Amino acid sequence: MLLIQFTGLSGAGKTTIAMLAKEKLLAKGIRIEVIDGDEYRKTLCKGLGFSYNDRVENLRRLGFVGKLLLKHNVISIISAINPFESIRKELSESSKQVKTVWVNCNIETLIERDPKGHYKRALLPNNHPDKISNFTGIDDVYENPINPDLVLYTDKETPEESAQRLVDFITKIR
Ligand code: ADP
Repeated sequence: MLLIQFTGLSGAGKTTIAMLAKEKLLAKGIRIEVIDGDEYRKTLCKGLGFSYNDRVENLRRLGFVGKLLLKHNVISIISAINPFESIRKELSESSKQVKTVWVNCNIETLIERDPKGHYKRALLPNNHPDKISNFTGIDDVYENPINPDLVLYTDKETPEESAQRLVDFITKIR
């Protein structure tokens, strides 16, 4: 059984890959749950913001859900930015079944891609009313993972290729 923790900047492709991989795994009869950070911020993690402490608390809660699913033999993918090495390490060191997958995309491509218009807003001047502050990769920290178990290069691969590489990784070691 596996608990996959994604890490990657906004727009890197976490949601896209998680959803495509989910379809592929379900088609093979493998049970899989996607723990989507954006969804959980509306429910279990409601009220948490984007300070260091809140981001850490957010990941601890997602990790708690993932560990619970692991205990009941359901593979899950935590799909969140997950920017800090220390908190990723905390989860990955809690069990050999936790694997870290870096959804990697260069910042130039992300700014160009900008599917949610977030980068445009994060890059606005400080006093602009639409400005998003504390945006990871622009004016908040993103620590590259030191020793990820798998890296998906979404600036070079198609969504289909990235999702298939993840499915191959999961089916090989699950
Ligand atoms: P995130 O969940 O990381 O914020 P999204 O999945 O919402 O990112 O958006 C990623 C965008 O990048 C989508 O528009 C997707 O079509 C595009 N994209 C291009 N190449 C890839 C790839 N190899 N994997 C995933 N997404 C990709």
